[in-house]
Amino acid sequence: MQPEGSDSSVAVIGAGITGLTAAYALQQRGKRVHLIEGRPRAGGVIESVREQGFLVESGPNALLLNDPALLAFFDELGLSGELLEAGATGKKRFIVRGGRVLSVPMSPGEFLRTPLFSARAKLRLAKEPFVPRADPAHEQSVAEFTRHRLGGEVLDYAVDPLVGGIYAGDPEKLSLRHAFPLLFRFEAEQGSLVRGGLHAALSRKKSGKPRFKSRSVSFRGGLAQLTDTLAGRLGDALTLDTSLEGVDLDGGFRLRVRHLGEESRELTVDRLVVATPGYAAARLVFQGTQTPLGELGAIQYPPVASVALGFRREDVQHALDGFGVLCPAREELSILGTLFTSSLFAGRAPAGHVLLTSYVGGSRRPELALLPKDSLERLVLADLERLLGVRGKPVFSRVSSVAEAIPQYNLGYERFLSAMTEAEQRHPGLFIGGHLRDGASVGDCIRAGQALALRAAA
Ligand SMILES: Cc1cc2nc3c(=O)[nH]c(=O)nc-3n(C[C@H](O)[C@H](O)[C@H](O)COP(=O)(O)OP(=O)(O)OC[C@H]3O[C@@H](n4cnc5c(N)ncnc54)[C@H](O)[C@@H]3O)c2cc1C
Repeated sequence: MQPEGSDSSVAVIGAGITGLTAAYALQQRGKRVHLIEGRPRAGGVIESVREQGFLVESGPNALLLNDPALLAFFDELGLSGELLEAGATGKKRFIVRGGRVLSVPMSPGEFLRTPLFSARAKLRLAKEPFVPRADPAHEQSVAEFTRHRLGGEVLDYAVDPLVGGIYAGDPEKLSLRHAFPLLFRFEAEQGSLVRGGLHAALSRKKSGKPRFKSRSVSFRGGLAQLTDTLAGRLGDALTLDTSLEGVDLDGGFRLRVRHLGEESRELTVDRLVVATPGYAAARLVFQGTQTPLGELGAIQYPPVASVALGFRREDVQHALDGFGVLCPAREELSILGTLFTSSLFAGRAPAGHVLLTSYVGGSRRPELALLPKDSLERLVLADLERLLGVRGKPVFSRVSSVAEAIPQYNLGYERFLSAMTEAEQRHPGLFIGGHLRDGASVGDCIRAGQALALRAAA
């Protein structure tokens, strides 16, 4: 081991969007930052690949721009001119019922006419404001909450597919409080979703704040244009192919880091920001002391495969006039859903072609996500033929499997949040955040990175 001398600065571990944002914000505040990334590239699960004229995302495809601060951040990075909006088509979504691809109603009139829900389910929905509030002492699963407030059919044909699309998760296991905190608050504070929504709208109006129009966005070069830009701004502060192996705590943090194929070296910093997944944080060895971070190894990250297939336009019958289609578990399809990628953002497929990105696995059928690529392609193609009228072979295919994909905010998640708080209290100067604590969406992770930097710079 080669001691490298002391360095009064901040180390950020993990160059996903959380760690990149945190390191960039710390650098902007004049801090000396070391961003340490174990893999040969920055971005974490965000990866955009251009192949044969198609632009494919291995991880997230879009981020929800729901906050003016996010827009200001993209502007600061010189990226606002590169933003692509999903546009009107992106508002329309489809759900499968009885093998048919049905559009999700967007207005009261459409809701009354839609065959997605039976007349009984529609009546049941109308009773929501009168359903008694659940016992606040009992932690509800998303499924339990939906059955109680909205009925079983809404669970099966709206919430279950939505949960598959957002978390690749199981509504019976996900905690309402942690996976959908806004809905939890609406019920806890106003006793109903309808009253909660009205109250939120009224409060916003009273505050006089202009309404920010939320929309799904990406960048011309894919989401990796954001992570690549951040990595570029960080320059030498970012070290790739280098893993944090352990931490000695004797006045500051003495880190043992190992660059691929080299001996471990030491780096001493007085603040340490951990922006890794839970299973990686759990493996960090804090020398000479027990740390509650070991708990984080129990956070579930089921595998997800993303299967991007390109077709000639005339080989797909469906109009592809929307964001994509979600598949309820009851429909017993292999896919969780499919994004109409080339309808969402310009430049994702060559002229005369379309790109469809399907997701397989998650909590629903984890065993499928790790199948060989040709089996995955076959399964997806069979579903696309049934649902979207795909004919003929794809002209392009790219399959990427993430063995540990999206954290599941399951029942009992509070114990992981407590472990992170306890670790920070036990080791002053340690800060933990990102998808395992602050919300799993890309936007949540950007906000988490900024908040981590604020705390670590204080
Ligand atoms: C398939 C998929 C689809 C998704 N779709 C969407 C979507 O459409 N929209 C959306 O908003 N969100 C989506 N998400 C969620 C979102 O992309 C992630 O939650 C977010 O990008 C996570 O960022 P992060 O920086 O917190 O973690 P990560 O991206 O996991 O980054 C953590 C980094 O830490 C590094 N690391 C780990 N251990 C060490 C160590 N010891 N030393 C050094 N480095 C280490 C890893 O190599 C990695 O680069 C999706 C996620 C997946 C997997």
